[in-house]
Amino acid sequence: MTSTTQIRLAARPVGEPQDSDFDFTTTEVPELADGQVLLRTIYLSLDPYMRGRMSAAKSYADPVEVGDVMVGATVCEVVESRAANRAVGDIVLAYTGWQTYAAADARATRRLDPQAAPISTALGVLGMPGFTAYAGLLAIGRPQPGETVAVAAATGPVGSAVGQIAKVKGAGAVGIAGGPEKCRALLDDFGFDAAVDHRSPTFREDLAAATPDGVDVYFENVAGPVGAAVTRRLNLYARVPVCGLVANYNATQAPDGPDQLPAYLGMILTQSLTVRGFIQSEFVPTHHDDFLRDMAGWVADGSVRYREDVVQGLESTVEAFRGLLTGRNFGKLLVQVGTDPTAG
Ligand code: NDP
Repeated sequence: MTSTTQIRLAARPVGEPQDSDFDFTTTEVPELADGQVLLRTIYLSLDPYMRGRMSAAKSYADPVEVGDVMVGATVCEVVESRAANRAVGDIVLAYTGWQTYAAADARATRRLDPQAAPISTALGVLGMPGFTAYAGLLAIGRPQPGETVAVAAATGPVGSAVGQIAKVKGAGAVGIAGGPEKCRALLDDFGFDAAVDHRSPTFREDLAAATPDGVDVYFENVAGPVGAAVTRRLNLYARVPVCGLVANYNATQAPDGPDQLPAYLGMILTQSLTVRGFIQSEFVPTHHDDFLRDMAGWVADGSVRYREDVVQGLESTVEAFRGLLTGRNFGKLLVQVGTDPTAG
């Protein structure tokens, strides 16, 4: 028998998740059934959507029940197999959550080729976040050559891909990020045309200076005051793929100040905006094959670069997750849960 250390949801967080909202437990992994594999977690992806899963509020996916293991995408090594198409030693993309080992149906895993790309990229630039950027930008944002695309959380896996794909398509990219170090990375590492620090007291003036021709596509990752400021810069017929609202995820009450909704609706009306929310899975049937081909090519030829922020050990997970919602991460946030046999 193999034992697994798990992080279970102990209570629904109110505001920022606390250590006491989670339990660490160790238990035996059940015997494998036919068609199953025993997986050892190498990398666990931490993503903002997990805050929604901790809440009972109605959403596009069911919440994690109190007492259940927290969900999450993982890259794992097959350590035992009762499935014909999976061998011991295979590296797979799975959805086994916040734990060190798990039994999984082999059909719920995708084999990765460690020769093709570092295996961790299946959770970032070549995985769900990269796909979110690709599908949301190209299917909804539809940037045209010479237009301006703006995105916040711009050094994260979604935002960094949005800006770089915009550049591939001939548009200009304006990135918004928290702090000078992240803004430098936007210019020097990710090739954005302009970077604006949303923590600066002159943010609104800096944003105006960085978008002299206005904004044609605002890829909405954060909402809050950043979203409100970019909305004022939107051009006639601008498109707004609404991808995420990370500024609100820990909110326990409406923000202070006047209701922003009338002004927002006013902009939609007078600027003839297209504001369209999406969950990336909607586009899997229509865009995922193209994504895998295009993104692999762009990463290989250097058009799209990526940055990872890897914290060590399952015990670091809760603290790292808190940092994701406040901007402490710098790049795609991963927990290295176990040794990576493919690392050089
Ligand atoms: P990131 O790694 O970019 O992490 C979130 C970042 O948000 C932080 O690092 C921080 O960056 C920024 N942030 C946090 N709070 C605020 C705030 N109050 N104002 C402005 N920025 C803030 O995350 P991802 O790239 O994984 O995800 C980006 C967005 O995409 C999220 O909203 C997520 O929920 C959404 N998403 C949506 C999907 C869909 O299907 N619709 C699928 C996947 C992701 P900084 O320090 O630069 O401010």
